[in-house]
Amino acid sequence: MNLPFVLAKRFVAGESFEDAEPKVKKLNDKKIKVTLDLLGENVKDKKMADETVEKYLKLLKSIHSSQIDSTISIKLTMMGLDIDENYCRDNLFRLLEQAKKLDQFVRIDMEGSDYTQVTIDLFREAFHSYGNHVGIVIQAYLHRTKDDIPDLAGIGADVRLCKGAYKEPEQIALQQMPAIREAFKEYVKILLEKTPYPRIATHDDELIDWVNGYTEDNNIGRERYEFQMLYGLREETMARFAENGYNARIYVPYGTMWLPYFKRRLMERKENIWFVLSTMFKN
Ligand SMILES: Cc1cc2nc3c(=O)[nH]c(=O)nc-3n(C[C@H](O)[C@H](O)[C@H](O)COP(=O)(O)OP(=O)(O)OC[C@H]3O[C@@H](n4cnc5c(N)ncnc54)[C@H](O)[C@@H]3O)c2cc1C
Repeated sequence: MNLPFVLAKRFVAGESFEDAEPKVKKLNDKKIKVTLDLLGENVKDKKMADETVEKYLKLLKSIHSSQIDSTISIKLTMMGLDIDENYCRDNLFRLLEQAKKLDQFVRIDMEGSDYTQVTIDLFREAFHSYGNHVGIVIQAYLHRTKDDIPDLAGIGADVRLCKGAYKEPEQIALQQMPAIREAFKEYVKILLEKTPYPRIATHDDELIDWVNGYTEDNNIGRERYEFQMLYGLREETMARFAENGYNARIYVPYGTMWLPYFKRRLMERKENIWFVLSTMFKN
């Protein structure tokens, strides 16, 4: 299906790096850091995975030469995880070699629960070799996270904590928002205690207010953690955070394969559907 990009442009910064770059610069001007994500997932053939790796390598170089303040996020299924795990590992390590050379940082996004174990395994290997050039994402809604968080915190991993964006059955994930929020708070406590710099990825005021209260009560400085939000949502809040001395980072997706990401944003919140409809009427 070839949907027009105009539908997605609220949540996606463009179809190329050149489209996204000025938007990144505007965010950086407001003291907001960025994570660029070249969109795509579940690549099934090697030719496409190889091309993706080349694009990521080029992206790291472009970030370096344009001097924007941005890291990158990747999905292992875009680097060939569905094709062969060893092939995917080689691709990941090629990318991390480049990141190390350019003093860059690569975060491995977390996908659906079929991929959780292999993603953690590959992350641990990568962390062993590339240390602070690589990070992972953990989803608070998964039941298994109660074991994964202490394990990863124990090695001092760089973790982005989010609720989780994929539809999972109740044997695998918490289903109710109050329980997900409670789990999220418990994991934030562990990450703050055991890891140097947790990344707290949510737009949820209840969680944000709780984090701010908890850190104040426990004398944990604003420089010890970072809030992360998605492009197109709550930019003014992020600008205010940055002004007030909080670390704020916006995840900026771009690329031509925007449909699955766009669908997840629509499913998440009915207001997002409204944004898209109003964009349609404005164009
Ligand atoms: C930087 C980043 C990276 C992510 N990476 C991953 C990943 O790798 N894997 C993955 O599975 N998921 C990822 N996610 C998605 C995440 O798992 C959630 O699906 C998504 O963030 C929605 O949950 P939420 O806590 O932000 O708010 P929701 O649960 O959607 O909303 C809860 C409440 O927050 C408030 N709220 C939400 N949005 C807004 C808004 N736009 N304006 C005002 N108030 C709002 C409302 O009060 C709402 O009721 C990522 C999210 C972020 C921010």
